[in-house]
Amino acid sequence: MIIQIEKNISDKQYKNLIEKLDSINYKYTNVSTQFQDYLIAIGKQDFDIRSIGSMEGVKDLHRVSDNYKLVSRKWKVQETIIDLGDNVKIGGGHFALMAGPCSIEGEEQIEDTVEHLHKNNIKIMRGGVYKPRSSPYSFRGLGLDGLKLFYNACKTKGIKIITEVMQVSQIDNMLDYVDIFQVGARNAQNFNLLDALGKIDKPVLLKRGISGTIDELLQAAEYVFSSGNEKILLCERGIRSFEKSYRNTLDLNAVPVLKDKSHLPVIVDPSHGIGVRKHVEKMALAGIMAGADGLIIEVHSSPEKAFSDGQQTLSFTEADSLYRKINKLVELKKSF
Ligand code: PEP
Ligand code: MN
Repeated sequence: MIIQIEKNISDKQYKNLIEKLDSINYKYTNVSTQFQDYLIAIGKQDFDIRSIGSMEGVKDLHRVSDNYKLVSRKWKVQETIIDLGDNVKIGGGHFALMAGPCSIEGEEQIEDTVEHLHKNNIKIMRGGVYKPRSSPYSFRGLGLDGLKLFYNACKTKGIKIITEVMQVSQIDNMLDYVDIFQVGARNAQNFNLLDALGKIDKPVLLKRGISGTIDELLQAAEYVFSSGNEKILLCERGIRSFEKSYRNTLDLNAVPVLKDKSHLPVIVDPSHGIGVRKHVEKMALAGIMAGADGLIIEVHSSPEKAFSDGQQTLSFTEADSLYRKINKLVELKKSF
């Protein structure tokens, strides 16, 4: 059960509420986010919901039987809109395109990409400065220095930054330079990291774990929300299956299912999802048809020279053509 409590609930009203929950044997957790205060109450006993709903200090009350609660659509029917400022919004009918290299490699590469995005009116640039790599001997990112270069270049063109955070200790230093913190597939159940990201006031994009279920992704989102941050995006980036013909299996089933279960925006990552450059376009467009609120795509001026994930990265020319199709399809879809 989710109890939305009034901001100005008195101590007495709060005490009465807690006593009521104790009396029906419900365990409760206090959740305060940047927007609202809640009590998440869990128990088995049957009771008349109106006996709590009518109490003073209670704004609203919802029974949610799912394991995840605050990210469920069962209490918040309206889609969440993530507002990055400067009129850049994601979700609730606002489609977001995010593009950029797998890794931030240096000043020239950043500037080339910023120019490419600006030309195509794309407002969000991706790029990793902390790279989780399968081999410790591969390029592992330029770190904070790279992030500062990334920030300076994007700031001049009003482009927002999404980049991966790998551990709790990085958050503070990254905070001023990041618009969306990405949690990578390999960190999908790093609960310490999720808790810590719940304590900041910046949006968080959660990638589905490499073998993660939909329920696990939603539970990861619940960690962030219940720690105080309602600004969450879910990302389908492909799961590991028995199939070896492509890097991952982009599970587009997840898109309508996630959107049905949760009010959070859903982003599709066709680059990691299939991992094969020549097929990225088709999967990107399929993601839109499946209902995605946005796409995150890897692009590079010379994919064959990229420090990481070149095999799935589009050239600027390929990307230009894809953006045109995306824009057309997003428009067309509005008429359905
Ligand atoms: C990435 O976005 O470059 C990345 C490493 O993604 P994932 O965590 O989905 O593998
Ligand atoms: Mn990558």
